[in-house]
Amino acid sequence: FFYFWQGYAPICPAFEDFYTRRIYHRIQDCFGRPIASAPDAWIDVVERYSNDNNKTLHRTTNTTRCLNLGSYNYLGFAAGDEYCTPRVIESLESYAPTTCSSRADAGTTKLHTELEELIARFVGKPAAITFGMGYVTNSSIIPALVGEGGLIISDSFNHNSIVNGARASGATVMVFQHNSPSQLEELLRKQIVKGQPGTGEPWKKIMVIVEGIYSMEGEFSKLPEIVAICKKYKAYIYLDEAHSIGAVGKSGRGVCELLGVDPADVDIMMGTFTKSFGSCGGYIAASEDIIQYLRYACPAHLYATSMSPPAVQQVISAIKVVLGEDGSNRGAKKLAQIRESSNYFRSELKKTGFVVLGDNDSPVMSIMLYNLAKLPAFSRECLRQNVAVVIVAYPATPVLLARARICISASHTREDLIRGLKVISEVGDLVGAKCLPAEPEKI
Ligand code: PMP
Repeated sequence: FFYFWQGYAPICPAFEDFYTRRIYHRIQDCFGRPIASAPDAWIDVVERYSNDNNKTLHRTTNTTRCLNLGSYNYLGFAAGDEYCTPRVIESLESYAPTTCSSRADAGTTKLHTELEELIARFVGKPAAITFGMGYVTNSSIIPALVGEGGLIISDSFNHNSIVNGARASGATVMVFQHNSPSQLEELLRKQIVKGQPGTGEPWKKIMVIVEGIYSMEGEFSKLPEIVAICKKYKAYIYLDEAHSIGAVGKSGRGVCELLGVDPADVDIMMGTFTKSFGSCGGYIAASEDIIQYLRYACPAHLYATSMSPPAVQQVISAIKVVLGEDGSNRGAKKLAQIRESSNYFRSELKKTGFVVLGDNDSPVMSIMLYNLAKLPAFSRECLRQNVAVVIVAYPATPVLLARARICISASHTREDLIRGLKVISEVGDLVGAKCLPAEPEKI
């Protein structure tokens, strides 16, 4: 199933047809629900109805106010902020929604260079480069870094943008068991001895790719061990911090700060602006040489329109709040709140008898439903009780590991979390999703 997950093995068409067309068609109301508000702690979900057993869904103009447990708005910046929003509006007036040009042409504004300097300083690398989209950052940077004659070793749970970047690179791609440093080491040792297929020549380059927080599990990477192995075998390490940058670590600097890894030991640090910073776009932070090389070698830098200036301004302002450079301590408060809320929510869910994935301090957690057939009932019933949750199944997870994925935000109040827990617990009983004995009530 790991292989299905990564999409490296050819997928049987009948199997694919059964899972994607037949089942998902019947439960299509559970995905892509239109929203009519910002992705805040509460959202307006557009009501839809079907009079032909979900074959066609019609939108209404009615909306329902729901507690939002599904957005990646970890620090709560996405729904407007007293420091960010006025500056974003000003940038929209001074610049425009778009630059109408690629970075290499006329698409570099003063804001873009300011953001790149700020990101480099924030993550602790000498330089950084930004892109209009996080997905494109991975899928276009990986092929610019490793090509034919190279070896990419990828964690089996890595995101689809990494999988596609690795496939497009022309390098040999191998997958190691999720978060297993020992399997990684074994694979590296064997492949270094074997060399390139056919010729046995030494690999031109070896790059190991991992994530900071795995988005379907809420689990942290075993980064210290993986970094030590990469150093030992002289492999480059590429770290995707989409879900961890801004959200974890004492000052929000991500998993290196949280797990005590020196950023100098991570060759390529990738991240997105779509989660903690409430904007859009992605970045790569690395040595001056690598970043300079990428400015000329990466097609997304040369041929894709640069980040929208207001989106750039949003990230600059959000990072300044996180760093306390807005003159307040709101950033530190947000970080403390998301940590506390995430740990509270996870431990309360476990107490009621759910199997919950995810490490302490991670804002992402998954409630295991296992059986795909439980997903629609879980999702619909939560929504009926005004709680919006994201459900995830094959091909984003292995077939028998369907789940509801919860993302906590610093904008959730304790009352919001209590309400969410009550509804999820009731719905869990209804669909038979609690696999463990509940913790007895304290007398
Ligand atoms: N990397 C990871 C680990 C992700 O989870 C995602 C999307 N959630 C991306 C990259 C792509 O980022 P974006 O959505 O900002 O394009």
